[in-house]
Amino acid sequence: MTTLPEIQNQIDRSCKKASRNKADVSLIAVSKTKPVEDISLLYEKGQRTFGENKLQELEEKSPALPSDIEWHFIGRIQRNKIRKILSLSEWVHSVDSVKVLDAVNRIAGEEGHHPKVFLQVNIDEEDSKGGFLSEEIEDAVEKALSLTHLELVGLMCIPSPSDNQEETRASFRKIASLRDQIEQSHQASLPYLSMGMSGDYEIAIEEGATHIRVGSALFGARTYHP
Ligand SMILES: *Cc1c(COP(=O)(O)O)cnc(C)c1O
Repeated sequence: MTTLPEIQNQIDRSCKKASRNKADVSLIAVSKTKPVEDISLLYEKGQRTFGENKLQELEEKSPALPSDIEWHFIGRIQRNKIRKILSLSEWVHSVDSVKVLDAVNRIAGEEGHHPKVFLQVNIDEEDSKGGFLSEEIEDAVEKALSLTHLELVGLMCIPSPSDNQEETRASFRKIASLRDQIEQSHQASLPYLSMGMSGDYEIAIEEGATHIRVGSALFGARTYHP
């Protein structure tokens, strides 16, 4: 477990190395499985952006915490949970199919929300992961750009786990160049890349991440209980 200032310093160093402005990298503190008290401690140190991957946890924690926290939903989206997810988080990182995209847009319209949406790309084409394949993403972007009740802000990925950082870097490069390509072909702006977790956020920053999702490095290891 690292402290918040240490992570902020590391973000700073990675930005310098990549000649990037640190204001262009948002740290999302991923608090999944962690109690409200742990979140409060980081809040008191100034952290305002938190991420959860399950609606139930978001529903339990958000009412118990200050209302100026910006919640990011980063987990797999079940369509019957979209209404509640949108009522609690303005940022959705994990739209992984056209069906979910359509449903988010429809429900946002009904409820008067305007969520900021990332399309998740299954960058390493893993069977176990959701997300659009590289060859599907163009069409999905085109569709998302046509929807009026959401704002398409960028692409998100979770590379396959690897001990080889250069493999992970290659995945980050791939999604960044996919984004560049789509921006050109659609004359559209996709400003954000949500990528990088505790083990690889430095590389993600070097490769252009604007939103890093850091859990265990900030909160300590997670203990899952079934
Ligand atoms: C859990 C999770 C993270 C954070 O992972 P750490 O390795 O603990 O930093 C990031 N992104 C997603 C989508 C997650 O589910």
